[in-house]
Parts: sequence; C-alpha cells; structure tokens
Amino acid sequence: MKFKSTRNDKLFLNASEVIVKGISDEGGLFVPETFPSVKDRLEELSSLSYNELAKEIFSLYLTDFTEEEISNCVERAYGKNKFDGNEPVSIKHLADSTYMAELWHGPTCAFKDVALQILPHFLTTSIAKTSDDKTAVILVATSGDTGKAALEGFKDVKGTEIIVFYPEDGVSNTQKAQMNTQEGGNVFVCAVKGNFDDTQTGVKKIFTNDDIKKSLEQNNMFFSSANSINFGRLLPQLVYYFYSYFDLYKQGVIKSCDEKINIDVPTGNFGNILAAFYSYKMGLPVNKFICASNSNNVLTDFINTGTYDKNRSFYTTASPSMDILVSSNLERLLYLFAGEDSEKLKGWMNDLNTTGKYTVDEETRRELKEKFYGGYCDDSQTQNVIKTTFDNYSYLSDTHTAVGISVYNDYKAETGDNTPTIIASTASPYKFVDSVLASFEKVSTDDEFEKIKELEKLSGTSAPKQILELKDKKSRFDKVIDKDTMPEFVLEQIETI
Ligand SMILES: *Cc1c(COP(=O)(O)O)cnc(C)c1O
Repeated sequence: MKFKSTRNDKLFLNASEVIVKGISDEGGLFVPETFPSVKDRLEELSSLSYNELAKEIFSLYLTDFTEEEISNCVERAYGKNKFDGNEPVSIKHLADSTYMAELWHGPTCAFKDVALQILPHFLTTSIAKTSDDKTAVILVATSGDTGKAALEGFKDVKGTEIIVFYPEDGVSNTQKAQMNTQEGGNVFVCAVKGNFDDTQTGVKKIFTNDDIKKSLEQNNMFFSSANSINFGRLLPQLVYYFYSYFDLYKQGVIKSCDEKINIDVPTGNFGNILAAFYSYKMGLPVNKFICASNSNNVLTDFINTGTYDKNRSFYTTASPSMDILVSSNLERLLYLFAGEDSEKLKGWMNDLNTTGKYTVDEETRRELKEKFYGGYCDDSQTQNVIKTTFDNYSYLSDTHTAVGISVYNDYKAETGDNTPTIIASTASPYKFVDSVLASFEKVSTDDEFEKIKELEKLSGTSAPKQILELKDKKSRFDKVIDKDTMPEFVLEQIETI
C-alpha cells in the first residue's frame, strides 16, 4: 500500500514515511492510494477480538510493517488494564434501535485515547525504518483533550519527548489538573498566558524557528506532531466502527453482514467521522453518516449548501473540543468526492486560504448530501438533551456526545429513518462535570470534587477512577509563561533532555 497527498497525486510514500512526516510538504494530507476491501470478509472478521481485528485492519495499510511490529504496537496500546480492562469500545443500548459506542474508557476519559495510545508506537516503529535513531520531539498546542491524551500515550515511550502547551484560561479545571499532574520522564507541560489561538500560533512559529531547528539537529532530534491530520491517528479509529457493527450483529440487532446501519458522530476537526467513512469505503455497510456540530456549525451549512464559509463568529461552547471553524480532515473527504482530482481540490483549498470560503461543484454537493446529514445544536439544547436523555433512558452523556444525540433526534424526526444507529460517545460526563451537572440543577459549589460527588449521587453512576485520583496527585508543572517566551522554553527543555 502506498500513500499520496490530497494536493499531489504524483507522490507515493510508504506508511512509515507518512506517519513520520504527518503532513505533506505542499500542505496536503496523506491518503491511501486505494481502499482495501473487506466486503466479502465481514462475516469472518465479525468473530475476532478487538485486538485481532485491529491487527487485520492495520496490516492492510501498514504494509511496510512486519506482522510482529503491528502486533507489538497493538498489544502495547490496547493491552490489559488500558481501557478499564476492556476493549477500547463498549456498546450500550440507548433506545429502540439506537446504540452508544462509548470510546472513553481509556486513560484520559476521551475517545482520543484510542488513537493516541497507539500512535507513539506506530511512530517509533516508523522512525526506526526511516530516520535511524533520532528522537522525536512531539510539540502540542491543546485546548484540553488532545494534550492530555498525547501525554498519556507518549509518556515514557523510548525515543520520544513530548512538550504540551495549553492556554492558562482556556481549559477546564479537570483538564488542567490532568495535565499538571502528568507522570513520566519525557514529558513537559506549560501554561501560556492568553487563549488557544495564541498558544497554537506560538507552537506553529516554533516548528519553523531556525535556532530551535539547529539545536534539535545538534541533539539528534526532530519535531513531530500528534494532531489529527496524521494518518497514524486516523487508522486506529477505523477499527472501532467495524467492531461496533459486529457487536450489533452478534447481538442480533442486525441479521446479516450486509445490513446497513447509520453512524452519528459529534464532530470538530472531522477526524472521527472521516474514520467512519473510510470504514465504509472498505466495505462496512452504512446508510447515512450524521455529522453533528455545536454552534460552530460551519459543517452543517456546508453539507446543506455546498459552500464552506469560515467567515463567521466563533463561539466558545460547552463542547470545547468541537469549537473549530476549519475542519482539517474534511479535505480528505472532498478529495474522494472530487474524484481524487488534486487540482480541483487545490482550487477549493486556495479559495479557503485567500477568501475564507469555497463552493464545491454540483456533483460533489449531490454526493455529499446523499451520504451525509448535517445538523447542529446550541448550548441550551445540549443541556436539555443531557437531562432528557438521562430522564428518559438513564443514559448520562457528556456535552459533546449530547450534541450527537440531539442531532440524531432531529434526523429521526425529520426522516422517520429507523435504521439501527451507532452514536459515538466521545467523552466521560465527568470530564465536563460543570456543564453536565448544570443541566440538572443549579450548581452551588466551586469545588470540582464536590461537583463530581454531586453528579455521582444524582445520576447513580460512578466517576472514572482516573478523575477521582487527581485529587491526591501532586502537581509537577506550574509554569505559566508569556507566549513570546515559548521558543526559549522549548530550547531549555531540549538542553535538559
Ligand atoms: C476531539 C473531540 C471531538 C471531535 O472529534 P474530531 O475528530 O475532531 O471531529 C468530539 N468529542 C470529544 C470529547 C473530543 O475530544
């Protein structure tokens, strides 16, 4: 299997090169040259364990990895006691033919763990193939979930160092505590004065800073990134869509492996829903993809009109991991709908860069509409849905998952479609305890742990132990710096490694 770039289809790289590079030199995203079909093997694959299935699917893409290398990556990432002792996905019945695919039983209580637990192993295996014994320095700007999941994934992985910056006032108290108490000998965490944009801009500048690059080279290191445009983060996400489908099959919800399901995903950067679409390209029977957004509803408008327009107000919402106006991974979907025509795609991306918007042609729009339903809900609807979903079905959802449920309810009301549906449940409600608790009652305390106790009492559920344990963990990182001193901070860390 070779990979090409969405903006340069003359390029043919191996999986290991693609994982090390992350993004193509001309700014395009790496995509598989073809999608290996498992359409005729679904029945056979349906009886595999999660790890066996992961190995099967990875081996179709990572063709320059040996079977043993793939197996090692999988066992390290998804071995015993990683996901509360279970598979990375647990299916729960919500109502009628609707099922929740809970993806948040990993170390940081958000779905990003599924990919970020294995990416470090994909990366170090790839580095061994492509760039000898260099150390990868992972640089992350985070608004919360990614930073913590990357820290947990990379902690103490040989051949890697990780530096995470987060905006001092832009993350929840739980997320701050999760990052500041991070263990591991190769991790560095630092708060930056300002908002997420300041932090992200600071990190982007460091990637191209000549002094830092020189210092890295002298120390036999190179920068790498863990963000969701890396194909190595996308690939692990395909597995749980297959696995969830097989779970419905085993439960008898679907009678045969050619029966279709719907997949509903609360969406930000379009990574998780794209992974679902890639599974469909491999032969997973899917009727409709339901793309759920919060008030930053640029994708809803795009699906409904064919015009992507980021010139609009940015809202800080109760589902912060979906507060995004440029959904990077959409480029990969458009590439497919544009008939893999990289010139056409470059035109749209160029329009986006210069005018902040683009309009796709009628045929692309039609194809998009046929397979995708787009919807959104605001914060007050989100809180409403958290409450009604709990009252009606005893299911407690976090704010992101609630957006997914809300848009699914709209879809069902609008279409009457009763196809069995899987909704991606992307974070533990306890990770966003403020907003979740506020959906039920007026919150009378500022203390984070009091709130957790309150939510436990009210819902009859238990908080994940990873979150409860934060209370007694010692803070290791308390530096708050000015955004202009981020380069110096990185240089200092490089010197101490
Ligand atoms: C990152 C994230 C999302 C959005 O996922 P994308 O792959 O960016 O679309 C949704 N929910 C939670 C909890 C997240 O952390």
